[in-house]
Amino acid sequence: MYKEPKIAKLGTQNTSYGYPQGQKRRIRPSVLMVVHITGNPDTAAMPEGITPGTGTYQEWKYVSSANYKQNSAHMFVARDGNVIELFDAYDYAAWNNGDLKEPETSWPAIKRIVSQPQNNPNEFCLREVECTGSTGNYELTAEQMETVAWISAKDSIQTGFPIIRGDTVLTHADFNSVDRANCAFKASTREARLARLCGRAAEIRQQLLDDQSYAAHAKELAAQAEAFNTKLAELTQDYEQKLALGVAALTAEKIAHESDVTRLEIEKLQAIKSTTTSIKDRVRANVLSEASEKADVYLEGI
Ligand SMILES: [Zn+2]
Repeated sequence: MYKEPKIAKLGTQNTSYGYPQGQKRRIRPSVLMVVHITGNPDTAAMPEGITPGTGTYQEWKYVSSANYKQNSAHMFVARDGNVIELFDAYDYAAWNNGDLKEPETSWPAIKRIVSQPQNNPNEFCLREVECTGSTGNYELTAEQMETVAWISAKDSIQTGFPIIRGDTVLTHADFNSVDRANCAFKASTREARLARLCGRAAEIRQQLLDDQSYAAHAKELAAQAEAFNTKLAELTQDYEQKLALGVAALTAEKIAHESDVTRLEIEKLQAIKSTTTSIKDRVRANVLSEASEKADVYLEGI
């Protein structure tokens, strides 16, 4: 049986989410889950849980403040498996792994993301979760793994996306293998842990679907997914129109710029021409005056 986490929807004042900032999704995400670790041993060592005084509460307080502008995540997962939710994953993309640095393009999802640079990598990710911990001394706990699996299972049912490592399940190191190599796992255990996570998520998914009491809920989720897809289709169309308009505007700007350059070139040529003419005039005047002086001398001599 799976363990359902407690989820406290505490929200956020940090406005660093959505593309463009603050806007709802404009493309359909294809990655179910991206796993992160907060990486701060101080909060990892604090009491577990999501209430004031716990490490996860402190992490949330810091990242959700109005003054914090760097990044964002949909959820913080405490070391006891309970969750603080900041904003809705279906409505908004988070800002947590937009940094592509030597990305692992051998994963199909990363390959897809890298091939579409017109969108931020975060936009392709449905849900980005931060697990309180620090690679090396506070690795993800069994409870955190269970919660991440449970969330992935629910999202998989809601979206119809399969649960496949590298295709729908990623971790920060896949995007940035240089500075984020330890997010959320150290390289030596990463694949084993993610394989276990995916296996567990698939199990929970099946249990949720088999669960009679869940069946009605699953139907409701499917209806929500339908609505989500319809809305996304509209948004995508709208976005593509805007993109086309943007391209047209850029082309117009480029042509205007090029005609500006041509105009400047013509002005330059005209300036050169007039300078040349005035030099020629001066030379001619000098030659004439010299000749007339010579003529004067000659005439005087006659
Ligand atoms: Zn990360």
